[in-house]
Amino acid sequence: MNCRIGHGYDSHRLVKDRKLVLGGVEIPFDKGLMGHSDADVLSHAITDALIGALGLGDIGMHFPDTDPAWKGADSIYLLGKMVEKATGMGLEIGWLDATVLAEKPRIAPYIDRMKERLSSTGIPQDRINIKAKTAEGMGPIGRGEGMAAYAVCMLEAISLNQLHFLGKNHPKKQ
Ligand SMILES: [Zn+2]
Repeated sequence: MNCRIGHGYDSHRLVKDRKLVLGGVEIPFDKGLMGHSDADVLSHAITDALIGALGLGDIGMHFPDTDPAWKGADSIYLLGKMVEKATGMGLEIGWLDATVLAEKPRIAPYIDRMKERLSSTGIPQDRINIKAKTAEGMGPIGRGEGMAAYAVCMLEAISLNQLHFLGKNHPKKQ
């Protein structure tokens, strides 16, 4: 199999006295997302899409919210762990597309920095697309009670050319 696809979804409640972190970027706002880790809803949806494409279950199986190790964890680190796993399986991210659903604040000005931060995990920046939408005032997200994110990830077999450059991350034979 040289192409796989995965889908991810996540949502978190907005509460006072929490930092708002989306795609690894801290965004100034009077509320933040509640969760065991940094509650980065976008990174979680992306990680779940990647885990889905790898056929490895879901994010909770790999980083359980009952494990104190992941309390306040930087979700970019968790994503990086799964990118490493993909490389080990001889797969790379061919494309990543994600949508953040948030009524407030405006997310668009932070998208470039999010892509930069997400690419620090080894996902090429020019293969990441992020979209931001509001819920047009409808439902709990429209009322600003929380945020949600969706992501789709395509994995491809790492080409021989790239293997050459990956050096020590050379994928193991399956
Ligand atoms: Zn989450």
